[in-house]
Amino acid sequence: MADDTLIAVKEAIASTAKVDEAKRRAMAERATSDPEGFWREEMRRVAWMREPTKIKNTSFEGDVSIKWFEDGELNASVSCLDRHIEAGRGDQVSILWEGDDPNSDSRTTYRELHARVCRLANAMRRLGVRKGDRVCIYLPMIVEAAVAMLACARIGAVHSIVFGGFSPDSLASRIQDSECTLLITADEGRRGGRKVPLKTNADEALKTCPSIRHVIVAKNTGTAVAMQEGRDLDWAALCDREAEICEPERMNAEDPLFILYTSGSTGKPKGVLHTTGGYMVWASFTHDLVFDYRPGEIYWCTADVGWVTGHTYIVYGPLANGATTLMFEGVPSWPDSGRFWQVVDKHGVNIFYTAPTAIRALMRDGEEPVKKHKRSSLRVLGSVGEPINPEAWLWYYRVVGDERCPVVDTWWQTETGGILISPLPGAVAQKPGSATLPLPGVQPALVDGDGKLLEGAAEGNLVITDSWPGQMRTVYGDHARFVQTYFSTFKGMYFTGDGARRDADGYYWITGRVDDVINVAGHRMGTAEVESALVAHPKVAEAAVVGMPHDLKGQGIYCYVTLVAGEEPTEALRKELVAWVRKEIGPIATPDAIQWAPGLPKTRSGKIMRRILRKIAANETDSLGDTSTLADPAVVEELVENRVGR
Ligand code: ATP
Ligand code: MG
Repeated sequence: MADDTLIAVKEAIASTAKVDEAKRRAMAERATSDPEGFWREEMRRVAWMREPTKIKNTSFEGDVSIKWFEDGELNASVSCLDRHIEAGRGDQVSILWEGDDPNSDSRTTYRELHARVCRLANAMRRLGVRKGDRVCIYLPMIVEAAVAMLACARIGAVHSIVFGGFSPDSLASRIQDSECTLLITADEGRRGGRKVPLKTNADEALKTCPSIRHVIVAKNTGTAVAMQEGRDLDWAALCDREAEICEPERMNAEDPLFILYTSGSTGKPKGVLHTTGGYMVWASFTHDLVFDYRPGEIYWCTADVGWVTGHTYIVYGPLANGATTLMFEGVPSWPDSGRFWQVVDKHGVNIFYTAPTAIRALMRDGEEPVKKHKRSSLRVLGSVGEPINPEAWLWYYRVVGDERCPVVDTWWQTETGGILISPLPGAVAQKPGSATLPLPGVQPALVDGDGKLLEGAAEGNLVITDSWPGQMRTVYGDHARFVQTYFSTFKGMYFTGDGARRDADGYYWITGRVDDVINVAGHRMGTAEVESALVAHPKVAEAAVVGMPHDLKGQGIYCYVTLVAGEEPTEALRKELVAWVRKEIGPIATPDAIQWAPGLPKTRSGKIMRRILRKIAANETDSLGDTSTLADPAVVEELVENRVGR
């Protein structure tokens, strides 16, 4: 559809970028032909206490074993803090925090962050937390969240962050699954002018979490909260008496750094386990290359630390690279939908990384809130989380980036630890809607349903044929589920669960989850393609497409459509949209049903949960499956109520 739009790398960008096309090619070739040599050099991005001699020892066969840098020793917090201070950058801002309230912000230097991390690490050790113990972090987007992560890393405790928007039940099930002994939370969080009762939620959750011995509570809004004697401890009182230095634990490269549960788009969340050495190398490598990061720049990833994007691209990647990372407590729509751009101007943000769900929401409000702000500091724009529709991509590129800034559409997963497929700003020509090419060291492939490798331009299941350092090592406590989920569908390959198309230039186009593929009269269709056609209509803000049972065609196409603010859903518009999709894609893609959707069911991280929409379309509304990670359950009720053909 949009294959023919090729946006070349601008000469000015190519000539100043760290990696240009020739260098990218050379890196990719070397990483494939001599992975040992390539990673022996790249691993020096992180500070080793003992340099590894063994580089790669991985097998996707049988029991599946993935080890990188296995005899190396390091501490992730040292790479993120100590060595920058030793290099004379202690006074540089590490975390630039912007509050929910537009009048609140703060700057924490590398030296200050180091001191805060050490104090908390000492306090945790004093509470008996040891290397390998699991610590749950349930915090809003405040500096304490990064402090808590790095303090865990400092003493070798394994953090498991639960997004602050999750309910007591979701929090409890994650604490139980990994048997955390310590919970770190806050009195309340703030989001879009409202308060989130974190401590109250935590108290509720802990009724069913006997493994928790202590709760450290950060003061954020200052509201009075119940403190259970002997269990709950005030962060400030606890840390004030601790020293500002703390001996970092020597960690083996393969010792766990964190557990993180996936978003639950496709089913029950999985406890993804990442280890220290490979993850840190991958976080630094990808943050550096994909964003072409340069010293002194202000870098902003709008994700929450509760998602893997926040782990790798707010905390570990940027801090490993000595960057100034902006941490944002608020939401894009508050106080108004110009907030992102107001913050960009206020802090002179150079690199901006967000999600398609945010871009589509902002598009609904038109260009005016964007154009009100200058945005002249912006240099690179990024997208992650879902396929970005070409229409949204172009809006991001033209309206937000004024056609000056390359857009990096980054495909990756909680499981992959960091970005795997993405353009590099100075090296890869872009196509709106395509994640383009794999990063050096990543070997994607497409296979058909029988696992046969597809060559050249093709469409199929996206697999990765060899390991990369940032790969997850296991599902926490359930290695059999790890092998079963990722390595049993196609022998000897990591199966991503996503479908993709590769065009004649070798560019990858993610077509959506394989489970979401629709089969209409024998024609396989990715949901992303039909959705993009709908979103390309000027009156459509967002769309979700699923298959529904159909007597003749096997599956029919059921579309949920959210209109642009102010547009009325009429029968004439419904007909117009059906005709529109027919014209954009072809008669085979003719929608069978269009339901007007004031809202779509999304995960807390903003991804559309198509499995729920599939159930509604099939009228199987009494078996919606795991809905614990749903952002707004009311949306589902509304859709069930107004189902087409009910
Ligand atoms: P679960 O695995 O529990 O169902 P999830 O897959 O939503 O949850 P994440 O790891 O947060 O959990 O999301 C990874 C998925 O997000 C990818 O498999 C892919 O479907 C989608 N995704 C991420 N980035 C992109 C992108 N740039 N283009 C297309 N899809 C993307
Ligand atoms: Mg997934």
